[in-house]
Amino acid sequence: MMTDLYRNLIDGDMVTTAAMIDVINPANEQVVGQVPACTADELDRAVAAARRAFKTWSKTPVEERRAVIRAMAGAIDANFEELYRLLTTEQGKPHMQAQFEIGASSAMMNAQSTLSLEDVINEDSEERLSRTRRVPVGVVGGIVPWNFPLLMAVQKIAPAILSGCTIVLKPSPFTPLTTLRFAELIKDLVPAGVVNIITGEDSLGPLITAHPDIDKITFTGSTATGKKIMEGASKDLKRITLELGGNDASIVLPDADVKKVAEQLFWSSFTNAGQICVAAKRIYIHEDIYDELSAAIADVARTVTVGDGANQGTGVGPIQNKKQFDRVCELIEDARTNGYKFLVGGNVDPSGSGYYVPITILDNPPEDARIVAEEQFGPVMPLMKFSTEEEVIARANNSDYGLAGAVWTSNPDRGVAIAEQLETGTVWINEFLHLSPFAPFGGHKQSGFGAEYGVEGLKEFTYSQVITVKRNAFA
Ligand code: NAD
Repeated sequence: MMTDLYRNLIDGDMVTTAAMIDVINPANEQVVGQVPACTADELDRAVAAARRAFKTWSKTPVEERRAVIRAMAGAIDANFEELYRLLTTEQGKPHMQAQFEIGASSAMMNAQSTLSLEDVINEDSEERLSRTRRVPVGVVGGIVPWNFPLLMAVQKIAPAILSGCTIVLKPSPFTPLTTLRFAELIKDLVPAGVVNIITGEDSLGPLITAHPDIDKITFTGSTATGKKIMEGASKDLKRITLELGGNDASIVLPDADVKKVAEQLFWSSFTNAGQICVAAKRIYIHEDIYDELSAAIADVARTVTVGDGANQGTGVGPIQNKKQFDRVCELIEDARTNGYKFLVGGNVDPSGSGYYVPITILDNPPEDARIVAEEQFGPVMPLMKFSTEEEVIARANNSDYGLAGAVWTSNPDRGVAIAEQLETGTVWINEFLHLSPFAPFGGHKQSGFGAEYGVEGLKEFTYSQVITVKRNAFA
């Protein structure tokens, strides 16, 4: 099998290192590419380039910055097929879902390129004029996970450089290929040093967080790593935006249309093999419709094929990496040991290659079961029964996480009334996983710090500066 060598983008050049990291296709455990293993030296070079570029980029008219972002989005569109196929090869998701991610990546860049940070007049009186403007923070360090590698990368790159910052971005060592191919495609579209993309082991992350010449960290990943980043950033008070884990609850009220919601509930949990921060990870169904709806969800599950994402007809691909595969298997094993009832699946086949977990649905496990209390990040969904709204709201909120949630009902007002009592940054009524590039996306509690997307997200790459002019001072 051919192994492609990928390079990093530093200061406008595609470069490499002597040491390389193997990238594995999770569908068959074969090495599909090698990427540079950067250390502090390459990081220093990238940060120095970003710092130099910041001088002119921060003064470049915003319309020019928008045009560069749109050009990068155009490069994604022009190479759509190559990129989605590569994404499936390294990440595992089925082709259709990879197409969605690649399409969403260029759409995200185009949408974010339209955002503006307007000056605000605080006071305009005879005595003085006071105005708030936004100024870019400087050099940004971006750190990205393995579930949506390109989308997470560009949703950091676009607002960073729109604001006038420059960026050094580190993909996950598990899924760097699509992002490095993107780096190659944009190399000549963006001035040298404005966007730098470097790869390395997890150990490169803390070096980024600690780097004295990086002004801000924007991170998506686990809550555990988010805490380390916050700690590291505290040393020199770097600005931080953290998008972390979730244990999102879906609540199905007794007036929901069972036939219509079954398929949607299924995909709210199993898209990307459950490896989505905002996937439904606990589904609470009212007792009046529990039996009917759980049977309907199980029927949907039986129609979906688990397999290599590159094969036509695959609905659920492999888990992205061995570590996560082991964790999901451990949660299934815990459910078995405790005697919880499996409605679907539950038997992992250890023979063969690839990190495949069968679609697994648990029938009403207790609230303190690990599969309910922890973020599974895999294709295992617990269905639970509830009796009253008060009870289900308390159960949904009984979590250190607070990322997103959903309510399913034929009465949207009732759904909104429940949504307003949920302790999460996003709540959907009768849909799921929809994130708007114009609405702030961020977690409550231990699901995050700050927000991405929209004007609120853009602001996080800036400081406010208030300029006050005393009128008639020397009159
Ligand atoms: P992770 O935290 O292990 O890794 C994320 C990134 O951080 C990788 O690039 C990794 O190399 C880097 N990293 C690892 N240790 C580091 C350290 N000490 N300092 C700095 N960087 C470090 O997360 P993951 O396993 O790649 O992703 C899965 C997690 O991400 C899940 O918990 C999921 O819920 C969360 N997630 C959240 C969102 C969101 O927007 N809230 C989106 C996707 C994934």
